[in-house]
Amino acid sequence: MLSIQNLHARVEEAEILKGLSLDLPAGEVHAIMGPNGAGKSTLSYVLTGRDGYEVTQGSATLDGEDLLSLEPEERAARGLFRLLILDETDSGLDIDALKIVADGVNAMRRPDRAMLVITHYQRLLDYIRPDRVHVLSAGRIVASGGPELALELEREGYDKYARAA
Ligand code: ADP
Ligand code: MG
Repeated sequence: MLSIQNLHARVEEAEILKGLSLDLPAGEVHAIMGPNGAGKSTLSYVLTGRDGYEVTQGSATLDGEDLLSLEPEERAARGLFRLLILDETDSGLDIDALKIVADGVNAMRRPDRAMLVITHYQRLLDYIRPDRVHVLSAGRIVASGGPELALELEREGYDKYARAA
């Protein structure tokens, strides 16, 4: 559904995404985790076409169509906001509110819909079980795995991955 290849993007002269690749098939839920400043929000802004974020290299396609040449409203019309991109929807929520949000997200899972769930904490993923977990560090995906990767991050932190990046 969503395919990102070697994406490089800059904000105000600084390169933030440095060769990010990610494949999100229809029907799957993928989580992106990573330290502050890794580029998680930048990724969501670049995909949606926010002003000020300049793509310098690489590609992003939705169902085979080039996303990056489209205006934000054209991306929406192609279904980019059905594909759900949730950037830290758990931030500031107490445990009951977190469950309400997770129930809402789970109710929207469908075979023809995919979701990118950006979060710092493993806790949300107890309720929204992702198919894949990716670690974003210094602008690239540096590790991918199943839900157990989120548990490892919770235990050990991002330090190992920050060094790898
Ligand atoms: P994350 O969401 O992973 O915490 P961000 O994508 O928000 O990270 O930020 C990645 C890097 O890009 C950070 O170093 C941040 O300071 C920088 N950055 C993000 N947005 C801007 C902006 N509008 N102007 C300048 N720098 C920015
Ligand atoms: Mg962010």
